[in-house]
Amino acid sequence: MIKVGIMGGTFDPIHYGHLLAAETARETCGLDEVWFIPSFIPPLKDNEPGAEGHERLEMVYRAIDFQPYFRALDIELERGGTSYTIDTAEALVEHHPERSFSFIIGSDRINDLPGWHRVAELAELVSFIGVERPGAPIEKSKLPAALSDRLQIAEMPLIGLSSTDIRKRRAEGKSIRFMVPEKVYSFIQRNGLYES
Ligand code: ATP
Repeated sequence: MIKVGIMGGTFDPIHYGHLLAAETARETCGLDEVWFIPSFIPPLKDNEPGAEGHERLEMVYRAIDFQPYFRALDIELERGGTSYTIDTAEALVEHHPERSFSFIIGSDRINDLPGWHRVAELAELVSFIGVERPGAPIEKSKLPAALSDRLQIAEMPLIGLSSTDIRKRRAEGKSIRFMVPEKVYSFIQRNGLYES
């Protein structure tokens, strides 16, 4: 089986926290590939994305350029509607029988895992790799056994970056220069994204 990590998210915009999470999970868990899948409408978030789907996808492509083991997929953008992870997992498993899938999830979202749509079915199809974010320690023991048994932790240096903070900094005219890869930075600048 080819081992694939799935990095789902809004990527509004993609930043170094996402990239380091993907790379750490790849190395720690011996993944062959990591696929980045931008969501169309993320479940459990109350704000609309700040950039269009095609812009968020373009920023992902620019961020992962030249990494042969990173890929970007537009399946959630193409599907439209609320981007439930279970729908993506079902499509991936059906279309790629020669691959196994592990979803890479930041600790803020892991603690919400029991509330995810059809999570019991999701845990039967895929496994999970948890990465820690500052201020959100992973509470594996608080998860039901059906989920914690499927969760492996990848230790990464804590990165206090969030897309929300990056959008806010842009709206305030502050620098985001070294928070995102250079090609993402130039795309944001050129298209005037996240300006107030
Ligand atoms: P927003 O601030 O808009 O909610 P975000 O920065 O949390 O966005 P998402 O695109 O929602 O980014 O995140 C996608 C995935 O990456 C989630 O599993 C999230 O927990 C994880 N992630 C985001 N930022 C980091 C970070 N700094 N360190 C580790 N994981 C992260």
